[in-house]
Amino acid sequence: MATLEIRDLHVSVADGAEGTKEILRGVDLTVKAGETHAIMGPNGSGKSTLAYAVAGHPKYEVTSGAVTLDGEDVLAMSVDERARAGLFLAMQYPVEVPGVSVSNFLRSAMTAVRGEAPKLREFSKELKTAMENLAIDPAFAQRSLNEGFSGGEKKRHEILQLELLKPKVAVLDETDSGLDVDALKVVSEGVNRFGASGETGVLLITHYTRILRYVKPDFVHVFAGGRVVADGGPELADELENEGYEKYAKAGAAL
Ligand code: ADP
Ligand code: MG
Ligand code: MG
Repeated sequence: MATLEIRDLHVSVADGAEGTKEILRGVDLTVKAGETHAIMGPNGSGKSTLAYAVAGHPKYEVTSGAVTLDGEDVLAMSVDERARAGLFLAMQYPVEVPGVSVSNFLRSAMTAVRGEAPKLREFSKELKTAMENLAIDPAFAQRSLNEGFSGGEKKRHEILQLELLKPKVAVLDETDSGLDVDALKVVSEGVNRFGASGETGVLLITHYTRILRYVKPDFVHVFAGGRVVADGGPELADELENEGYEKYAKAGAAL
């Protein structure tokens, strides 16, 4: 079974003239295919830094620790190699590509991940099925990538990529702003579909607890001060919804 393992991960970013600043201070996390994990935490706690570091963003320097996918050293891989190995990281794909249709973009992404271009006929069929499964209007495939996309359409595109690329582990950073209810439902339905398939592990990073009204994670991890400070099940999300992060923010600062 596919397993993403993050062990004692320390990550720094360049911090202006001052040199570097340590953001992640020893993150441990294991995500297996078929499991849905939610990482929740206050703003600035390092959640997105974790996603960027796993994605291989050059600004985020891993100073120690390990990330492996089925025992393979993810940190030694290029961004493309990570995708081919079966990691899906939403933010590794360019956000604005005017003049390229959704359909063309998806075929290129599949080519990158599979190492060869899917035959046009088969691709069209797969795309049609995926869009039907996700109840996406067929006209969406001909839209220009991200041009004038609503929050919901961006999310639909993200979930469509998941459906076609069938990663082993998907890291979805639900940035803390601008997710309307429509977008929230698209993400939730997608995540629930993947959770149910048993083939993909999902790491859902979120600040707001409201998405967890639609998605029931198997595991919830509270992030504060650049590390995981509490682990639990869905009940932990309920606690956070009622009581907020205050208690954990203090725990993170004290570490
Ligand atoms: P979260 O996603 O939990 O809100 P982030 O990972 O975005 O937190 O940020 C954690 C901390 O790291 C913040 O103090 C932020 O200012 C800092 N940080 C993140 N990315 C960068 C960057 N590229 N350059 C400088 N500081 C950064
Ligand atoms: Mg450590
Ligand atoms: Mg963030």
